[in-house]
Amino acid sequence: MSERRHTVTVNVGGVPIGSAHPVVVQSMTNTDTADAEGTAIQIAQLVRAGSELVRVTVNTREAAAAIPEIVARLAEVGLSVPIVGDFHYNGHILLREFPETARLLAKYRINPGNVGAGQQHDVNFATMIEVAKEFGKPVRIGVNWGSLDQQVLARLMDANTAQGSPKSGTDVMIDAMVVSALESARYAEALGLPHDRIIISVKVSSAPELWQVYRQLAPLCDYPLHLGLTEAGMGMKGMVASSVALTPLLVDGIGDTIRVSLTPEPGASRKLEVEVAQQILQSIGLRQFLPQVTSCPGCGRTTSTFFQALAQKIQDYIRDTMPEWKVKYPGVEEMQVAVMGCVVNGPGESKHANIGISLPGTGEDPRAPVYQDGKLLTTLKGPRIAEDFQELMERYVEARYGQAEPVGS
Ligand code: SF4
Repeated sequence: MSERRHTVTVNVGGVPIGSAHPVVVQSMTNTDTADAEGTAIQIAQLVRAGSELVRVTVNTREAAAAIPEIVARLAEVGLSVPIVGDFHYNGHILLREFPETARLLAKYRINPGNVGAGQQHDVNFATMIEVAKEFGKPVRIGVNWGSLDQQVLARLMDANTAQGSPKSGTDVMIDAMVVSALESARYAEALGLPHDRIIISVKVSSAPELWQVYRQLAPLCDYPLHLGLTEAGMGMKGMVASSVALTPLLVDGIGDTIRVSLTPEPGASRKLEVEVAQQILQSIGLRQFLPQVTSCPGCGRTTSTFFQALAQKIQDYIRDTMPEWKVKYPGVEEMQVAVMGCVVNGPGESKHANIGISLPGTGEDPRAPVYQDGKLLTTLKGPRIAEDFQELMERYVEARYGQAEPVGS
C-alpha cells in the first residue's frame, strides 16, 4: 500500500482531509434541498450510516434559504455533520444573497465548467472565492467530464490539432480536465484563497479513464483529492464499477475522500452509497468501520439455506448494533466473525476469526462447533443455533471490548 501522496490537510467543518488523515467517506442527498425537513431526515440517515460529510445541491434561492433550517433540524437531533454546498451556474448569486447559508456550509463545491462563459466565468468564480475567503471556507474545484470548461477544451483541442502527431480526443479531454482543475486552483490562490483550503476532483464515468485522469493529476499538485466514479449507475453495476475504479487509485495512495455515486433503486435507501464506500475502504485495509463477517459461498455440501440465512442475520445484526457498540466497545470494529457452511473449511476459517461457527453440511452430524480466539468454545445443536451463536458473539464483544484487557489475557 502506497503512502498518501497529497501532503496538504484541508479542514472541512472540523473533518481533516488529506495528508496522512484517514480517507473520508462522503455522500450526497437526492432530496429537494428546499424541503428542509426531508433533506434533514436524509442527511441524518446518511450520517447514521457513517457519512462523514454530506453534500446537498444548492440550486435555487429556496434551496439556499433552507440551509439554516436544515442545520437547525440536525442540531435538534444532536447531529452536526459538515454540510457541503454543491453550486452550478448561480453559486456566485446565491452565496452573496444568502450570507447565513454561506456561513453555515462547511465547503463550497465549484464546477469550473458551470460558472459562466467568457469574461463572466472569471468574475463569477472570483465572487465565490471572495465569499469563501470572507467566511474562512474551503472549496472543492470539482471538474466533471460531463460539464467540462469548454474554453479550456477548445484551447487544448486547437493546440493538439496544430501538433504533428495529435492525441486522441479522449486524451485531450483528460488533459483539459487536469488543466481546468489546476488553473482554477491557481486562480483561486491568486485571488487570495489559502493553499490549504482547496480540494480537487476530476470525475469521469469509466474506470480506465478515471485511473488515467487521476494518475495524470496526482503528481502535479499536493492538494487533497476527492475521488469518485461519477454516474456509476444502479445496483450491482454501480457497486462493482465504483469498487473497480477506486481501488487501484486508493492502493496507490491517490484519494483523500471518496464518494460512491449510486443511482438508488426506486424506493431504496440512499445510505447504500455510504455502506459501499465503507466496504471499499475496509476491503483494501485502509479503514475499519465494522466487524467483518467472513462467510463461505456454500456449495453442494450445504443443501439447506440455513447458513446463508445465518450469515445474513449476523451481518445485519452487526450493522444495526454498530452505532451502540461503537460507543460501548472501543475497537469492536476490528473484530472478525466467520460463518461457514461445512467441515471442509469451516473449522479452519472459524479458528482464524475472533469468533466463528462451522455449520453442519449435508450428511454431517447436526452440530455446529463454535471457535473463539482459535479454540473450540462449545458445540451448538438444536433449533436455536442462530440465536445461541448471536448470544455468544454478544458475550464475546462485551468481554473483549468492554474492558481494557482482552479475553483470556
Ligand atoms: S466451507 Fe464447505 S460448504 Fe462452504 S464452500 Fe467450502 S466446502 Fe462448501
